[in-house]
Amino acid sequence: MDQGMAAWSKRERNRRTPGEVDGGVTTHGEVTMKSIVRPSRHGVRVANLVATCDQIRREMAGQADPDGLLERIRRSVERVEAILRRHPEGASAMAGPSRRAYQWLRFLAGRSNLETHLAALDLAAVAVEQVWPGSVRPGRARPLVPTRIALDFYHIEVLYRSRRTPEGVIIVASQGFVAAPAEVVKALVWAAHGPGRRAGKGSLEWRRGIHDYAVGPEFRRVMRELEAGAGLPGPDTRGQVYDLEEVFRRVNREHFGGILERPTLTWNKVVTRRKLGHYHPATDTLMLSRSLDDSRVPALVIDFVMYHELLHKHLGVDRSNGRTVAHSAAFRREERRFPGYAEAEAWCRRRP
Ligand SMILES: [Zn+2]
Repeated sequence: MDQGMAAWSKRERNRRTPGEVDGGVTTHGEVTMKSIVRPSRHGVRVANLVATCDQIRREMAGQADPDGLLERIRRSVERVEAILRRHPEGASAMAGPSRRAYQWLRFLAGRSNLETHLAALDLAAVAVEQVWPGSVRPGRARPLVPTRIALDFYHIEVLYRSRRTPEGVIIVASQGFVAAPAEVVKALVWAAHGPGRRAGKGSLEWRRGIHDYAVGPEFRRVMRELEAGAGLPGPDTRGQVYDLEEVFRRVNREHFGGILERPTLTWNKVVTRRKLGHYHPATDTLMLSRSLDDSRVPALVIDFVMYHELLHKHLGVDRSNGRTVAHSAAFRREERRFPGYAEAEAWCRRRP
């Protein structure tokens, strides 16, 4: 341990609130060696991990020193890995928010990734200023400082989202956009929180720019690097009745001649009855609803839903007049080639 780190640890010790509960969320958010992995309904979560990311994001919003940040990020990653070594059962069943927090920290633990990230935050501030002139305070250019609007990048499941806070509007864009050019960043600000974004001629253009970037190579590269996270096994594919891995292999072999590469397979954590499956092209993730993991659901039906989602992967997205058409006539034609289509379709429509 070098001098700086020893001093840091001492400071941290002094900052710790007296009587703090192990693994409790502290105000400054820190994964400590005492953090516990705690089973929750959606998997195992590492206490304080998400709070640590929130804290680091806030620090980056100010003019934080990159070397200090890098050290802090690397130390957090080491701590999480030490915890996971002691709780191997936790690593294989990590809940989504903990998993994404860990993967995000690991990504930023690379110096060039951190530099790209900080540069992207500066670019985001410029974009905000262009869309909403006067909303960025001079001298405190980076997002998340209490300005009217801010744009930040994080490992989220959607392309972008925005929310109102007492500090203003915070737009969070997928980490996949971290190396995006200025026009795309500006489009994100506009699409998430631009004046007149719901109507207007421009909005289609903005959205198209975002979409095109999100299916492009650079976005995918970042997402793959994030997901590659340190030998952490992927999401658990085994359900109570069905194993997505097996279903994928069978459907790929029987209906696609085995040519499809395996997407990330996951059960949708929120049990949806209306929507049985979803394929997300930007992250190459295929989700099936947990409601299908039931002995009353025939194998034909789960194969059919898997087939439908894999067709999205196989055929890609169709465009007409700038709108994305997921279920084109060609898609429907291919879908009907599934043997037992009528029966499976009828079951999906009638399902309890
Ligand atoms: Zn579909």
